[in-house]
Amino acid sequence: MGVVAKRVLIVEDEAAIREMLRFTLARAGFEVDETADAAEAQRHVFERPPDLLLLDWMLPDTSGIDLARRFKREPDTAGLPIIMLTACSGENEKIRGLEVGADDYITKPFSPRELVARIRAVMRRVSPAGDDVLEIDGLLLDQASHRITSLGQAVELGPTEFRLLQFFMTHPERVYSRSQLIDQVWGKTVYIGERTVDVHVRRLRKALEPRHDRFIQTVRGAGYRFSPHI
Ligand code: CA
Repeated sequence: MGVVAKRVLIVEDEAAIREMLRFTLARAGFEVDETADAAEAQRHVFERPPDLLLLDWMLPDTSGIDLARRFKREPDTAGLPIIMLTACSGENEKIRGLEVGADDYITKPFSPRELVARIRAVMRRVSPAGDDVLEIDGLLLDQASHRITSLGQAVELGPTEFRLLQFFMTHPERVYSRSQLIDQVWGKTVYIGERTVDVHVRRLRKALEPRHDRFIQTVRGAGYRFSPHI
């Protein structure tokens, strides 16, 4: 577990609910920030980036769903985990919420324990540093034992492919140029050509077939991106 407390930003216009959320999360060991509307939330996310956004569906200015969509489209915030809060328990709301890229969805009223469990689960799923095991959509990388499984099947990787995958899984939803990848994975003092990156990416993709090879995406003219979203 990480030593630094994870920060959650609560976006909820109802003061009583906000208060309850803040109390619950603070007691669970999270650092908590709060805002009452979407405009303030947007400012806040850039000024003091949270590790997770707890976003109410019904807000006075912009709806929570529109705000979630905006964050998920913006490259700087696309990787920010979002849990939507809603008063309706309809399937439609759930589907719409997950469609815009919300990571989870919780219906009011909920118990504090359920809320904290959901937040921890989402953070585990997306969390970069801290936990030894990285897990993204059926792809598991154990940083302690260097074991990798894809849909439960063991994946054998060379040391460079391992570091490359580890870097990708801890930095999803961002495009990295070949030279940035060289600095991050091989180190700044090593001289290798950019084509070498392509060779290792190809090997890594091959090893992750048939499912997770698609997560390593070529972004033309820019580099590579790791994303579970096709
Ligand atoms: Ca509300």
